[in-house]
Amino acid sequence: MTRTPPRLDVDAIRDLLRRGEGTRVLDVVGDRWAFLILRDAFLRVRRFEDLRRRTGAARGTLAARLAELVDHGVLHRLPYGPVPGRLEYRLTEKGLGFYPVALCMWKWENRWSAGFDLPPRMVHRRCGEALDPLMSCGHCDQPVHLRDIGYTLGPGARHPMRGGRSTRRRQSAGPDGYGEGVDTTMFHAVDTVADRWTAVLLAALFFGLRRYDDINAALGIATNILADRLRLLLSAGVVERHLYQERPARHEYRLTAKGLDLFPFTLAMHEWGARWMPSPHGPVIRLQHRACGHALRSRLVCGACGELVDPHDVVIEPVAHGRTRVQARGGKGKKPLVRRT
Ligand SMILES: [Zn+2]
Ligand SMILES: [Zn+2]
Repeated sequence: MTRTPPRLDVDAIRDLLRRGEGTRVLDVVGDRWAFLILRDAFLRVRRFEDLRRRTGAARGTLAARLAELVDHGVLHRLPYGPVPGRLEYRLTEKGLGFYPVALCMWKWENRWSAGFDLPPRMVHRRCGEALDPLMSCGHCDQPVHLRDIGYTLGPGARHPMRGGRSTRRRQSAGPDGYGEGVDTTMFHAVDTVADRWTAVLLAALFFGLRRYDDINAALGIATNILADRLRLLLSAGVVERHLYQERPARHEYRLTAKGLDLFPFTLAMHEWGARWMPSPHGPVIRLQHRACGHALRSRLVCGACGELVDPHDVVIEPVAHGRTRVQARGGKGKKPLVRRT
């Protein structure tokens, strides 16, 4: 029980899930294609055809997602080469600010994606050590744990949510098979969490909800969608089902170690939303680091040297030496990876 944060009631959690900082982020990156585009953007893949091949996205889907990321100020289009009219996609400052989210997914994938293609190793140039990013408190510099987080509602929580795209349902399913040149690294993390309702469901679990009826009330989505996402998290080993009442049978859902290890990712999403998509009425949810008593501004630092991790200081190793490479799901076998250094 020490791992669960203090309980808010279901109504408060429902409001937070609808309006909170992390939910606003999902209007921008609430599907797998946006995550895969950003994965590649941090690997300096910038051109449409390269992105299309590596993500496996259909041309129209990719064009639509890129246009949305440009609209949201995450990417911008810049001309390249001698031929006029050729454009490539570069991360803006806001896009670069997404790096902690991407790194948290990378770390999780490294740890939990056994059986799938592992992502590339990275080295922190400033200290020369293999990168092991840690979420730490910007005030006391100590690592942040779920059990140390307190929540309070901010002024933004009192304002009704403006119209937006939050009810929009996106198609997040992956392709049936992967074409030549698709980079399947990070697919386990992306297929597990890069979906609007899965991310909201995870947030509900991190707020301490466990029982189906509570989760259902907090999310307020169609029961078939909720059942589908719970099934997905169960099969990925992110949650476990426990019988807490026999007659009638009632189950609760608890995060496993693998699920709890997604907390830094969820925190990074919150932090990015708070920084780059602030509510005009002030924060909806305020996090407190109870270990030091201060408002929490989480920062992703290098586990070896403690410095803030900046994408320009990280070297991506082009070849995954000695790593297990197995057939990807839906797979047509091993595919060559495109690595840009
Ligand atoms: Zn602290
Ligand atoms: Zn370092």
